[in-house]
Amino acid sequence: MRFELMLPHQIRDAIERNLPVLLPLGVLEYHGEHMAVGMDMLAVTRILDRLEQELDIVILPQFAYGAASYAVERPEGAGSVHVGADKILSIAEEIFFSLLRVGFRNIHGFIHHQTENFTAGMPTDLAFKLAGRQAIFRFLETQYGEGWWGSDRMRDYYTQHDEGIDPFNWICVHPLMDEEITQKYPFDHAGMGETSLMMALAPEVVDRDRFGDNSGWYTESAKDASAELGEMGVGLILDRLKELLVRDAT
Ligand SMILES: [Zn+2]
Repeated sequence: MRFELMLPHQIRDAIERNLPVLLPLGVLEYHGEHMAVGMDMLAVTRILDRLEQELDIVILPQFAYGAASYAVERPEGAGSVHVGADKILSIAEEIFFSLLRVGFRNIHGFIHHQTENFTAGMPTDLAFKLAGRQAIFRFLETQYGEGWWGSDRMRDYYTQHDEGIDPFNWICVHPLMDEEITQKYPFDHAGMGETSLMMALAPEVVDRDRFGDNSGWYTESAKDASAELGEMGVGLILDRLKELLVRDAT
C-alpha cells in the first residue's frame, strides 16, 4: 500500500495490524556516464515495488534528497545533489515524529547510498538514525512527560528490550544490502554490482553505449554487468527484507 493513496480507515487498520511502514531513503548522485543519477534511490524503491507483491507493507513517499556528497564528482553538468546531514536531521525528525503521532510503531528506513560500513555510518543514514532516536524521545516525553522511563509503566523495559519490542525499536534504519549480502554480491559505486542491479530493476536507466564515455576507476567493472547478476542480488535482498520485516512483525 502506498501511504499517499490510503484512506484513514486503511491507515487505522495498518496501525492495528502493526504493518511495517517503509521509508525509502536515497540520494541523487553521479553514477558514471552510463547510469542515471537516481540509482541509489531506485535500488530501494524498485525493490520495495517487488516486496509489495509479497508482503503487506505500507510504503511512504521516498526521500531522495540525501547527503550525496561531491566525493565522486563535481556537481556541475554531472547531476549530484547534496543536502547536508545537519539540514536533513531536522526534517527527518519531523517526519518520524509525525509518523509516531499517526500511530505507527513499526517504521523502517532503507538506504543504499554509502552503506558499505553501516555500523559506523555515513552522513545520510546517521542523520536518519539520530532523527529516529530524537523523535522517539520527544514523542515519549510529549505523551508521558519527563520521567517516563523511570515510571512504573516501564518496569518491563529490559524484557521488552530483549524481545526487541522496546520503544527504540519503533524506528529502524537499515542498509539495503547487509554484510551477509555484500559477501555474496559485489558492492561498488556504478561498477558491476550497481549497474547489474539497475539492469534488473530499472533497465531503462542504463545505457550500454555509454560505457566507453566513463573515465573513473570505479566504473571500470561496469562493462561486466548483467541483468542475471542483478537478479541474483535482488533475490538476496528480497529474502533478507522478508526475513527482517516478518520477524519484526511477530
Ligand atoms: Zn550508488
